[in-house]
This record gives sequence, C-alpha cells and structure tokens, in this order.
Amino acid sequence: NNEQAAARAAAINADTGAPTIFDKIINKEIPSSIVYEDEKVLAFRDISPQAPVHVLIIPKFRDGLTELGKADARHGEILGQLLYAAKIVAEKEGIADGFRVVINSGASACQSVYHLHMHVLGGRQMNWPPG
Ligand code: C5P
Repeated sequence: NNEQAAARAAAINADTGAPTIFDKIINKEIPSSIVYEDEKVLAFRDISPQAPVHVLIIPKFRDGLTELGKADARHGEILGQLLYAAKIVAEKEGIADGFRVVINSGASACQSVYHLHMHVLGGRQMNWPPG
C-alpha cells in the first residue's frame, strides 16, 4: 500500500550517518515518554505505536552504531545491554509473558532512523510472519 511504499522510499535516503532525532530525545531537547533509563540505554514510547505496548530502546552513545549491520566487536557489550533492557521494559510494562523484539537494519528492512534501536512490542497477539 501507499504507506508501505512511502516507508520504503524514506528508508532508502535515511542512512547518512548524521545525528538523528534520537539525539534530541536523549538530550531531552524534544519530549518523549520515557519508560526506562540507565547510564547506557534509554527506552521511550514509539510515537506511532504498532501495538498496545511499543517501546524503543536505544544506546545513549551511538558510537558508529547507525544500524545493526554496521556492528563491530566493540559493540558487543552495548548490544547485550539493549537486549537485557528489553526484558526489563517488558516486565515494567506487564508483558513479560509474551512480547516481540525487532531490529530493522538497513533500507531493505525499512529502517528509518539511523541510530540503532530495538522495538519492544506486545499487549496483543503478535503474528508471524512479520510484513
Ligand atoms: O525501525 P525503524 O527505523 O523503522 O523505526 C523507527 C521508529 O521510530 C518508528 O517506529 C517511528 O514511529 C519511531 N519514531 C519515534 N519518534 C520520532 C521519530 C520516529 O518514536 N520522533
């Protein structure tokens, strides 16, 4: 449909390595609904939720991690911290018994913001396969 085509078109031009809107969220220059935060990661509600619970978890320091496909050995620790934060967020949101974690990496996956982020989705039946 049109919305999916627009998302694909936006994704193709999004990977510039420039600072993203998520830097402004990290710096609290624009408001967000924060669900969890520690020294390394920030979790906030997606502005366009695709499920009753839809939280994004991001590293506070991008450190070259624009997308998962660009990860390097030095990113191993933060990647583990993001995944563990997903479990903490799922518990806080009351969906620990069933939730989905998604990372869109690159234009073919319709990644639109080039600051690595993990989607945590739940609160409804999640179906498979994804689109
Ligand atoms: O994985 P992808 O890059 O497509 O996801 C980006 C996500 O960031 C989208 O779900 C979008 O709704 C969300 N977003 C947001 N706040 C913004 C810009 C994007 O929650 N200001």
